[in-house]
Amino acid sequence: MPINKAYLLMSVFFDDILSFRFNFNVGKKMAENKSIYLSKPQLEAELNRCLNCKNMPCMKACPIKCNPQAFIAAAKNGNGELSAKLISDENPFGQTCGLICPDKFCMKACTRRLVDFPINITKVQATLMEKFRNFKYDYSNVVPNGKKIAIIGAGPSGIAAAYFLARNGFKCVIFERGSQIGGALNLIPHERLPQDAIMKDWEFVNNSDLISVVFEADVSNPSELFSQGFDEVLIAGGEPNCAKLNIEGEELAVSYLEYLAQPEKYITKGNVAVIGGGNVAADCAIVAQAQGAVYVEMFVRRGLSDMRITPAERHEILERKINVSAGTSPDKIIKTGEKYSLYVHKNRFNGEKWLPISDTSVELPDFDLVIRAIGAKADEKQVDLRLIYIGDCKTGGSTLVEAMADAKNTAFELIKKYQA
Ligand code: SF4
Repeated sequence: MPINKAYLLMSVFFDDILSFRFNFNVGKKMAENKSIYLSKPQLEAELNRCLNCKNMPCMKACPIKCNPQAFIAAAKNGNGELSAKLISDENPFGQTCGLICPDKFCMKACTRRLVDFPINITKVQATLMEKFRNFKYDYSNVVPNGKKIAIIGAGPSGIAAAYFLARNGFKCVIFERGSQIGGALNLIPHERLPQDAIMKDWEFVNNSDLISVVFEADVSNPSELFSQGFDEVLIAGGEPNCAKLNIEGEELAVSYLEYLAQPEKYITKGNVAVIGGGNVAADCAIVAQAQGAVYVEMFVRRGLSDMRITPAERHEILERKINVSAGTSPDKIIKTGEKYSLYVHKNRFNGEKWLPISDTSVELPDFDLVIRAIGAKADEKQVDLRLIYIGDCKTGGSTLVEAMADAKNTAFELIKKYQA
């Protein structure tokens, strides 16, 4: 694409000196046609590499306390169904989590990394669930305890809370403002997280009258649910609002929430700018490229190594030849005819934070689509102290497993409270 010469010169200079602009245009291989699950020989190889560590560092590092040492040992002994059960007992989204969990928990703690490289635990987990989970959770021995819980939001944390509460006799009604379960999971590109993996996890959980979902539910005043017979009200609304850039022309950029929910609604062609450097920005860039964009460039405020993306996403950005301009922030967006110009400036790290460098603002013309993906925000919290917030709307943007772990911990606190 045509790039402002001054910007290019500056970028080349900073490439050498500070790695400010990094072009991932290396390698020819594209990301298509790769399996998200392990083949039989790959699975066996990973199972055999496991050292069966008795101190279970992998389990200790898992936020939701799933136990790779145990489920790998079960699979190694030929009992795949038991390994799927061990995963599902701790994690209601065992298959989904295996597909998208970053390697910063169990794999970072895996002892095998001291020998060569960690067991690919997440892919092992996803593969075992795909191959061997042919059952739903059996609630038949659960005795209802007469307590009713309202849960606002059918995303992972809401469903995780319902799963652990229903297993302990609580009647859970989930109020979902949309028309499907899954929340933010539905924004992840299907080639990385197929919809059927989410649905298999949901079908595993949704096997009891103790769990029901009311779709298209607009609960504007959750406190009113107490007067409708609910003993507790959990808010699991996630972060449904896209953070603002606060720049001129902001409204010209499509939010990542809108784009990822319906990428086919936008004519993705030519040149696409993605503002942001985290997981959702990477998803937007990957989807835009897959939808037909010729040139995709991500604008990242901080450095390349500060990008909050998984190694798999970094790898995909490389494979898809997506360009990344690090240390770059937008100043304004202008539309001329059908094209957008993005004005950006450079930032420098002063040892503590990234600060703008004066007189570096340049115009980058000829974009066909600009997407803003700098983060998300939860809805304003209600003042009623009886409401219990769980997952991302309580903790801020976190991983799937962290959001579910928070929901699980809250569920067990309530179980303890009503057993007392
Ligand atoms: S830490 Fe790694 S090698 Fe040890 S039991 Fe867990 S997965 Fe296996």
